Amino acid sequence: MDCFAIFFCRSGKIELKAECNKGYVKVKQLGLNPTSVDSAVVGKGNEVKMKPGQHLHVVNQLYPYTVQFKEDLTGNDKRDRRPREPTEEDGEKQKSTLTMKATIHTEKDAVSGSPVEATKTNVSVGHWSQGLKTSMQDPSMQVYKDDRVVVITDKYPKARYHWLVLPWQSIPSLKALREEHCDLLKHMQQVADRMVQQCPDSGSVRFRMGYHAIPSMSHIHLHVISQDFDSPCLKNKKHWNSFTTDYFMPSHDVIRMLETDGRVTVKEGTSELLKLHLRCHVCHREIPTIPALKEHIKSHFSK
Ligand SMILES: [Zn+2]
Ligand SMILES: [Zn+2]
Repeated sequence: MDCFAIFFCRSGKIELKAECNKGYVKVKQLGLNPTSVDSAVVGKGNEVKMKPGQHLHVVNQLYPYTVQFKEDLTGNDKRDRRPREPTEEDGEKQKSTLTMKATIHTEKDAVSGSPVEATKTNVSVGHWSQGLKTSMQDPSMQVYKDDRVVVITDKYPKARYHWLVLPWQSIPSLKALREEHCDLLKHMQQVADRMVQQCPDSGSVRFRMGYHAIPSMSHIHLHVISQDFDSPCLKNKKHWNSFTTDYFMPSHDVIRMLETDGRVTVKEGTSELLKLHLRCHVCHREIPTIPALKEHIKSHFSK
């Protein structure tokens, strides 16, 4: 899956996932307002595929939309052949691979002859970092907020509990951190601690808090993740290694580094850690495949 967007119309909420490689858009109705694709009613919580030429109707057929896929001629065209979720760990690669755009057009434009701003939305989000910025503004994603930070649930959780703590202040990456950010990072850590304390399972499951070493996103975020790694979204070696090797930099270490050196440095070769063989994070045994690893992990948590 290449592109992802949540699209809000004035009175309803619809999630659109553009599967650029497959040439359709998945339409999911999140809100109560009636939504249909051609004559098929979607229904709350349901998802249907919408192909170019089909019509999306929002709110009692009041707002018809069509979908168009456009080749982005400005980017290079190295598209990944595998369908993929836009997980942020993949961000680095996606920057170069995301070259398709999906655009939602409203037919109202043609009818009225003038563009209607609220009913014409470019869903060319493309990069999950943009989705992240959208998500942090979305009240339905927010689980905590104060004047400095917001906590959202990870859209593709890699464990039973997986939150992201994000500062409102725009800090593009670990590289951009300076000593003056120490207080903010400590606050992020405190908020993360509180999230864990309030978690009903905090007595039985361990949590880790940290940053991915190589920033693939344009906004720093602290991962708060339970160590059960029990999630269908955890699908590959890259996912696993990004949370269980030194690629995952503990929050306390990042703060300490910032206090002592005034900046955060990432060791050379850190990106190679994502290619390591799979190892259980509890007993460190090497396990050949993700399904075997998931099965193995269960043995640690059922005791
Ligand atoms: Zn991350
Ligand atoms: Zn083990």
